[in-house]
Amino acid sequence: MSARILVVEDEPAIAESVAYALRRDGFSVTVAQTLAEAEARRAEADLVILDLMLPDGSGFEWIGSLRAERRDKPIIVLSSRDGEADRVAALETGADDYVTKPFSPREIVARVRAVLRRSIASVAPEAAPATQAVELDEKTRRARVGDAALELTRVEFDLLACLLKGPDRVHTRVELIDRVWGGGFAITDRTIDSHVKALRRKLAEAGADPGTIETVRGVGYRVGSGSNGGP
Ligand code: CA
Repeated sequence: MSARILVVEDEPAIAESVAYALRRDGFSVTVAQTLAEAEARRAEADLVILDLMLPDGSGFEWIGSLRAERRDKPIIVLSSRDGEADRVAALETGADDYVTKPFSPREIVARVRAVLRRSIASVAPEAAPATQAVELDEKTRRARVGDAALELTRVEFDLLACLLKGPDRVHTRVELIDRVWGGGFAITDRTIDSHVKALRRKLAEAGADPGTIETVRGVGYRVGSGSNGGP
C-alpha cells in the first residue's frame, strides 16, 4: 500500500523537495498551497504535512479541525527554526510531530514513516509485545506490570496516568506540570525529569519495556500506544 500524503506548504521550493523525496520513496503526494486547497483535499489524505504560516491563514486552526474529524490522520508540522513556541503549541493542538526548517528530504521521509508506523499500530494492534504492558487502576490507584505490582509515589502514578491517557502524543513538560501538580507550584523541568527517571527504573524492574516513556528532546515525553495493555 502506498500512503497518500497531503503537503500543505506555500513555498514552492520546499513543497517540491518534500513531494519529490516522498514520491521517490513510494508515497503518493498531493501539494496544497493554501488552507482552502488543503481543506478541499483533506478527505483523500492519510497523513498531512503542514506549514503553519499560509497565505490564507494559520495552520493551527486547521489542526484543530482535522483533530475534530479523525483521530488517526497524523499531522507533521513544518516549523521555522526559531519557532519553539509554535512547535509546542502545534503539539498541544494535536500535531503528531514536527520538522524544523531547513530540513533534509531524507529527514521528512523518516518522520513520515515513523509517524505512520505509530498510527497504524494504534489503529490495528499488533501481536502482544514481548515485554509486559503497564496497567493503572485510577480508582484504587494501583499500578501493575503483568502480575507484578508497581509501587509508585503519588506524583509517579499521576505522571504515568497522564502519559498513558494520550498514547503516541507528545506531552510537554508544562502540560505535565499543570496536570500533575496543578497551578501555583514552582516545578522545574529538572524535577519532572527526575520523577520520570525514577518511574522508568521502576517500570524496568517490574519487567516493562524501559523505553515505554520516550523523551522528545526539547519538548517533553511520549508513551507509545503499545504500552497500555489494560482498558
Ligand atoms: Ca509558509
